Amino acid sequence: MLILDKYIESIVFPLEFIRSPVWLLDVNSLRFVWGNSAALVLWDAPTLTDLQNRNLSADISLKVRKRLNQYCIDLTGTTSTVSEHWTFYPKGRPTTCDCSISAFESPAGVSLLMVNAIQQDSESSADTLYRSSALLHTSVCVSVYGTDGRLKYSNPAARCMLGAERLSLAERFVDSGDWRWVKVELAAGKEVVIEALVVTGNEQAWHSLTLESCPDPVIGASSIMVTETDVSERLQAEQQVHQLAYYDALTELPNRTSWFAALRGRLELARGTDERLAVLFVDLDRFKLINDTLGHTIGDKLLVAVSERLSHCLNSCEELARLGGDEFTLLLEDNETGSQANDKAQFIVETLTTAMNIDGHEISIAPSIGISRFPQQSSDADELMKQADLAMYAAKEAGVGYLGFKAHMTTQSVRRRVIERDLSEAISTCVLQVYYQPKLCAVSGVVLGQEALCRWNHPSLGWISPGEFIAVAEETGKIGEVTKYVLHEALTQQAKWAADGHDICMAVNVSPLEFRDGDIVDVTRQALHTTGAKPENLELEITESMLMEDSDSIQTVIAQLHTMRVKLSLDDFGSGYSNLGYLQKFPFDSIKIDRSFLSHGEISPVIDLIIGVGNKLSLKVVAEGVETQVQSDFLTNQGCHQLQGYLFAEPMDKSSATDFLNAKRKSAPRNQRQRKIEFVA
Ligand code: C2E
Ligand code: CA
Ligand code: CA
Repeated sequence: MLILDKYIESIVFPLEFIRSPVWLLDVNSLRFVWGNSAALVLWDAPTLTDLQNRNLSADISLKVRKRLNQYCIDLTGTTSTVSEHWTFYPKGRPTTCDCSISAFESPAGVSLLMVNAIQQDSESSADTLYRSSALLHTSVCVSVYGTDGRLKYSNPAARCMLGAERLSLAERFVDSGDWRWVKVELAAGKEVVIEALVVTGNEQAWHSLTLESCPDPVIGASSIMVTETDVSERLQAEQQVHQLAYYDALTELPNRTSWFAALRGRLELARGTDERLAVLFVDLDRFKLINDTLGHTIGDKLLVAVSERLSHCLNSCEELARLGGDEFTLLLEDNETGSQANDKAQFIVETLTTAMNIDGHEISIAPSIGISRFPQQSSDADELMKQADLAMYAAKEAGVGYLGFKAHMTTQSVRRRVIERDLSEAISTCVLQVYYQPKLCAVSGVVLGQEALCRWNHPSLGWISPGEFIAVAEETGKIGEVTKYVLHEALTQQAKWAADGHDICMAVNVSPLEFRDGDIVDVTRQALHTTGAKPENLELEITESMLMEDSDSIQTVIAQLHTMRVKLSLDDFGSGYSNLGYLQKFPFDSIKIDRSFLSHGEISPVIDLIIGVGNKLSLKVVAEGVETQVQSDFLTNQGCHQLQGYLFAEPMDKSSATDFLNAKRKSAPRNQRQRKIEFVA
């Protein structure tokens, strides 16, 4: 038997004579320290030693254990007791009691709970037991307050949450406005649901509370039943998600998404009023150099410092955001002459140019700022941003701090420089898109191939034709990146269509420059390998100009591609240097008659000649730019094999091109489908 110390013995002696069960529990070890005779009966223990040898750890959940500890903390040193319905399981038999619990600490420092249990009569309905047990075990805090706001009852979870404090309902709301609103709603007989910051013990937390007026179940007076759960973690997670979605992590400024939302909202409000606004696009000059030479940590700190300086330039109804990298944007108030925004831009230039000390480095960074104006130049958010971007670029080019947008900036050299600046990023972020234009059998109308044509929807300049950006890519050495990207996209699509029963040839345009270095061979091999497309289903379209050079390396490249079974097509045939010698010298599979021979619905007499040459050399002859039925009929009668042009289809994105293929397959008569198979074979 556990030897009781003198102190405990003195306490338990009179309790032995009480008829209801009383016992002492060590809350740390969860063992009985002592129990009177009635307790031994309740617990079905033949002796006190048997009771003391029992360990309740296995039967008591962590939650309940936490709660018992809390009772020790709250009740020790006080005369307070807590009353609860408890269900025990002596030898597995549920026994429900009304328990009165008090706590004290023995001189040896052991935390003890004294439990006085009054057994419920066995008549208690199962329903009541379930309900009281649920109330006891739930993690939802349930409490009852009087209409004066004083706490009357709290379930164990609520007691745990409130600690020893017996705060009134009013005192629980950190924001007194919340309580005022709750009171009004309750007075109107409503059930109130609120998420509020509340006092819990000696802390504060966000709780979701439901409050309802109800009669006190004991005395019938009206009271307020409150159920609450802690939602701090959920709110914190929501807050984090919101922060990540709408704010830039580095500077904590609104990001691109919130910027556009704010800009649109503000323009909407200003529309129809006489308010004038200006959008500023701010880009830091030579920021990359600082990043590269002083490192990213300094670069990041500089961006934070810049964002702080920019914030100080704003008044309360103006906006600032970081679009990414070293680009910031502002929405300012302006006046009729535009001088207000100009002055602010000048002020920003001066503010940012003033040297700042970042980790011991004196850094002065000049910005270039472009300004567009609402409503004079546009009332559309996207348009204003494009204009401000172009104006910023013009300011940078001109080496002046800021410039207002002017119409001529959409053309001219600014445009070219913008293309040059943004091309690599467009490729790496897959902004370039590949469209597909079908080539049809002149006789049957069956689709035999698709030509991949590159497209670029530039954020400020809108759609740019490949004619424009391919030339820039060639001049700036970026054409290799474009070809690699287009080849990969187009062959991925080819393989998809092939898997779907459209085993057609994919034509990709290749710039003549790429035949000078031998790269195109490896790039093609790699693209075929990764996409799983068959080489005989790839056709490279090459313009004549390349062959002018006639160097050994070009010959080698063409021979290698031919060995790989990749098809070769001579594009824009007849447009420039047409030399029949090329056709005999290089292993071409087809020629594409330049579309200038068909321009404006005309048919050039030279076409006859080209088709004749092609046929003589057993080359497939393709006509591009077919726009009218007359042209189509003529070309077919002359023996042209394949036709391509707006008459049949414009270049389409992959989903429309797929629809086109499917529609053609459905409409083709059975014998034509058969014919196509023969042709391909
Ligand atoms: P291209 O290879 O001669 O392509 C035919 C051009 O004619 C395409 O212009 C096409 O949209 C257009 N077209 C098609 N049918 C008709 C028609 O019935 N009437 C008229 N008037 N035009 C028609 P796009 O797509 O603007 O391409 C222009 C050129 O850019 C292409 O000429 C090609 O040389 C080059 N290109 C396009 N994509 C790429 C690419 O991925 N790589 C390279 N290196 N060049 C490309
Ligand atoms: Ca072409
Ligand atoms: Ca062409």
